[in-house]
Formats: sequence, structure tokens, C-alpha cells
Amino acid sequence: MRKTPRIGIMGGTFDPVHYGHLVTAEEALVQFNLDKVVFVPTGRPVRKTHRHLSSAEDRYLMTVIATASNPDFEVSRIEIDRPGDTYTVDTMLALRDLYGPRAELFFISGADAVREILTWKNADRFAGLCTFIAATRPGYDADLGTDGGAGRLVPVPAVESMEVPALAISSSDIRDRVAAHRPIRYLLPEAVAAYIEKNGLYRETVA
Ligand code: ATP
Ligand code: MG
Repeated sequence: MRKTPRIGIMGGTFDPVHYGHLVTAEEALVQFNLDKVVFVPTGRPVRKTHRHLSSAEDRYLMTVIATASNPDFEVSRIEIDRPGDTYTVDTMLALRDLYGPRAELFFISGADAVREILTWKNADRFAGLCTFIAATRPGYDADLGTDGGAGRLVPVPAVESMEVPALAISSSDIRDRVAAHRPIRYLLPEAVAAYIEKNGLYRETVA
């Protein structure tokens, strides 16, 4: 009998995707014995409306380019092809349908993002749907505040934590660097840097 598929889901705006994301996905793959990691670029994230976002197609393509050489990584269009606002729980429900009830889903994310999700009104909707894998910087206390829901009479999702190096890399820093003509080499795959250059992304400083 085939074993239960273990699928990692790495959601993000990926504007642009960088080595922090890739190292985190690879680490989760190995530490949690996943069969693959699916990168899910967000459509229109409800929580990131304050700044100009590169087009979904640019973010999707950069993620495809960055993951192309890894046979255990793939990229899903599920969120970018869905119209309207993006809610992570809807994506997880759709992926649950796609991979079937036997699959075990792991939502991989930075510890702060996990902390945010768990304070959402709908946090209990994730319970039983997936396990969260929260990436933390080595030597730091994850402080996930998972007991934040202790007083509530609702089930809370399972949360595991995982240490990853390279946590200081962020997309916002990369965008600022491009706008300020500072180097981005070694922070993200060269082919993604070339894509940014070729398409003139992030040249304008946006508040
Ligand atoms: P921004 O700077 O615009 O917020 P970002 O670098 O945080 O971008 P996102 O696309 O927002 O990138 O992140 C997608 C997911 O990857 C989130 O769960 C985030 O917590 C996680 N993440 C981002 N950067 C890192 C990193 N350096 N190491 C580990 N996880 C990261
Ligand atoms: Mg972020």
C-alpha cells in the first residue's frame, strides 16, 4: 500500500522569491520527511494591500525559475488564478481536495507569519486541516504564543518549529536594494536577479 503523501505548502507573495524561502522549504522537506514542497504565490493578499505588488505573473514566473532545478519543489497557480481576495484557509481546503483526504498537509511559514495566522478569527478552521511548520532563526525562542488560544473553547492547529539559517533575507530588503542600486547578488538565485533586471522590477522606490 502506498504511504500517506506528506505535502509541504509554502505560501507567500514571493515579490521576489529569495534564498530565505528556498532554504526554508528545503529544510522542511528534509526535517519533516515531506514528499514535495508546493510554492503557492498569493493572488491578492488581504493583509498586504499597503504597497504596490508586482503582477501575479511576474511573481509566479520568478518562483518557477527559482525552483526549476529542484525535483521536489513545484509551484501552484491555485491562488493567482482565483479571483478576489486570498485567504490561506481557502487555499488549504482546495489543496486538501486536490491531494485527497489521505494526504498530510504542512503549511510552512516564518514564525511571525504563523503567529499572525493563529490570531486570526478563523484559526480554528485550520485545526485538523494541516500542521504548521514555523521557521525560526537558530538560537531564538520560537515564542509562537500557541497558548494564545488556550482560553478559547476551540481546537487549535498543530504547530511544529524548525530552525533555519538565512532568516535575515527578506523580499522588502531586496526591493529596497534594487531601488537604491545596491547589490542583491547572493541573496536570491541569479536567474531571478536577471529576471528582475530584464523586466525593470523594483526600480521605483515605493513608500
Ligand atoms: P516581505 O519582506 O515583502 O514581507 P518576505 O521576505 O517576508 O517578504 P514573503 O513572500 O512575505 O517574503 O514570505 C513568504 C513566507 O516565507 C512567509 O511565511 C515568511 O514568513 C517566510 N519567509 C520570508 N523570509 C524568510 C526567510 N528569510 N527565512 C524563512 N522564512 C521566510
Ligand atoms: Mg514577510
